[in-house]
Amino acid sequence: MKICRFDNDRLGIVEGDRVLDVTGALDALPKVSWPLPQGDLLIANLDKVVARIEAIKHAATPKPLAAVKLKSPVANPSKIVGAPVNYQLHIDEATKNPGAFANPSSNMLNIRTAGPFLKANSSLVGPSEGVALRFTDRRNDHEVELAVVIGKAGSAIPAAKALDHVAGYAIGLDMTVRGTEDRSVRKSVDSYSVLGPWLVTADEIPDPNNLDLSITVNNEPRQKSNTRMLILNVQQCIEFFSSYYTLLPGDIIMSGTPEGVGPVKNGDLMIAEVEKVGRMEVRVRNA
Ligand code: MN
Repeated sequence: MKICRFDNDRLGIVEGDRVLDVTGALDALPKVSWPLPQGDLLIANLDKVVARIEAIKHAATPKPLAAVKLKSPVANPSKIVGAPVNYQLHIDEATKNPGAFANPSSNMLNIRTAGPFLKANSSLVGPSEGVALRFTDRRNDHEVELAVVIGKAGSAIPAAKALDHVAGYAIGLDMTVRGTEDRSVRKSVDSYSVLGPWLVTADEIPDPNNLDLSITVNNEPRQKSNTRMLILNVQQCIEFFSSYYTLLPGDIIMSGTPEGVGPVKNGDLMIAEVEKVGRMEVRVRNA
């Protein structure tokens, strides 16, 4: 199932070029009050919501997909975890071009020694909101990535059990301003984490480690690879990252970017695709 959040926080499922409005299925969510439970309420209760969607979708109102504004399918993650330097050819381009990339020391070019980084939750947007550039005198780069959304909480998760903790997948853009600050700072600017166009539930992607992914800017090809080129694959990322942090429902893992990262500027149109997930268009503007 392809589950989206659209327009004024409506819940939808995507079927072909239509969105069915199944906002009524949110009735399956428990009523909560302060302090809110950590993690995303929808993802934490996804099984119940999906069952309710199945029950009501036949009576749902369809809308053309092209007519809705898609937001991040995860509204309230407890964290966004990034995998740095997780494709060899991206490490190679960073090594060859040390001026453009921070932290050129060898420890920071190995995911095992660099460790994961965190992106601020306040940087999260959906494709319809676009990317608003800051620090436009510096390079602001796209990084297309397979995004993994955690469904079941876990700590120190072994790789062999890792996919049991996945709710689904989406396309992630880990936008980055190049420079000297810590990764976490440069990748946490407002709107620098794009998630979309929807969440594809894990049952539709039994093997996340063999998916084509790509991005174009103004129709110019920039990045094109396959998740089989990941250094730490999806299960190994979950094992490694959950050795540091308890992963909670709705947590987003951006699994790393392949070679071909490059700058974007005001007015650009990015089109990102991940096989079996979909395609999303994201506009770039100056903040
Ligand atoms: Mn990245």
